[in-house]
Amino acid sequence: MQHPDVCIAGAGIIGLSLALELHHRGYRVTVFDQGEPLSESSSAAAGMLAAHDPDNPPQLLPLATLSLSLYPDFLNRVRTLSGRHVPFQTHTTLQSVPLHTATASSELTTKDLTHLLPALTPREHRFILLDEHSLDPRQLASALLAAVHATTIDLRPHTPVLSTRSIGNTVEITTPSGTMHAAQFINCAGAWAAASSHLLNIPVTPKKGQMFSVVLPPSLPMHFVVRTPDVYIVPRTAGPAAGHAIIGATVEDIGFDKIVHPSDIDRLRSLAITLLPVIAEAHQLEAWSGLRPATPDGLPVLGAVPGQPNHFIATGHYRNGILLAPATANVMAQLIVGEASSTDLSPFSPNRFFAELPSP
Ligand SMILES: Cc1cc2nc3c(=O)[nH]c(=O)nc-3n(C[C@H](O)[C@H](O)[C@H](O)COP(=O)(O)OP(=O)(O)OC[C@H]3O[C@@H](n4cnc5c(N)ncnc54)[C@H](O)[C@@H]3O)c2cc1C
Repeated sequence: MQHPDVCIAGAGIIGLSLALELHHRGYRVTVFDQGEPLSESSSAAAGMLAAHDPDNPPQLLPLATLSLSLYPDFLNRVRTLSGRHVPFQTHTTLQSVPLHTATASSELTTKDLTHLLPALTPREHRFILLDEHSLDPRQLASALLAAVHATTIDLRPHTPVLSTRSIGNTVEITTPSGTMHAAQFINCAGAWAAASSHLLNIPVTPKKGQMFSVVLPPSLPMHFVVRTPDVYIVPRTAGPAAGHAIIGATVEDIGFDKIVHPSDIDRLRSLAITLLPVIAEAHQLEAWSGLRPATPDGLPVLGAVPGQPNHFIATGHYRNGILLAPATANVMAQLIVGEASSTDLSPFSPNRFFAELPSP
């Protein structure tokens, strides 16, 4: 059997978007997942492409902007391969901002808000309007998986990567099914990327997010996202979930626990009700949680792994992995094939976590 050119650990949105990009460039790709593909953080997300969220670290903006520009082509590729169209659900976000950052021209008046969404109670919030899209990550997950299945990408569910080591010009990858050699290995294992020290010693940790969905009352036709630092309400306007809204999310530092606590969901609902009182009448459908891959500085880790030849990592996308998937696939493929990068990757270098280590 021929060895793959590239082997990827992790079939979340990052691993599979990158697999598609490398396949498109003619590479033979194998992807391992320890569970079901796209069943972790990537299908737990709200789906906001929040490049201009004021809570994002400023260094993220160029990568986020690149990703937004690549999104239409990414969705077209998924559509061509899978036959499935993944529409944008919303095109506008009402973003609350601290008083000192709202300028006279960007801030909406109460009259504007009442016109946009009569049910909104902006008592304690100032809002600006952002041109921002959202999509349904579950719709994207099922289309992306169908797209991958339509290619020669070798996707192996329920096969954890147990260890890797560089041997000459190749990497030996060990799974419970045996060993495999590939020219290059990419760790896209999300919140688990550093869970096993044999995979990597980079500080990626899980940040739990709980959220829930409701059926919006007919009195509240909602076509845009409402977001404050404490809570967001993300309506679905097309597809099987049209008329629902996602309300999230907690940010918790408690390891790999994914238990959903009704008290946390109730707190989110109360926060949402302060914005949209009519949410009090909304029937709850589901509640769930996911584990965001986080780094100490809130930025992704994209690049070659120091001291481990032919090993790369692409994770740490924290609250923006859906937004950043197309750009991550693009810049990581450029690194793998040896092309110049479309954007400066130095803020995301794995080396930043090794700066204090003494040189060998
Ligand atoms: C509640 C919540 C809301 C969010 N909302 C948004 C949003 O609105 N917009 C946005 O852009 N982002 C959002 N995010 C963030 C986004 O979901 C993540 O950044 C993104 O999904 C990370 O993708 P990933 O592929 O790195 O991780 P994952 O989707 O978690 O995939 C990692 C995969 O690696 C596999 N794996 C782990 N270890 C191994 C191993 N040893 N061998 C093989 N496979 C392994 C896992 O099984 C998993 O399938 C949200 C996240 C949460 C939890």
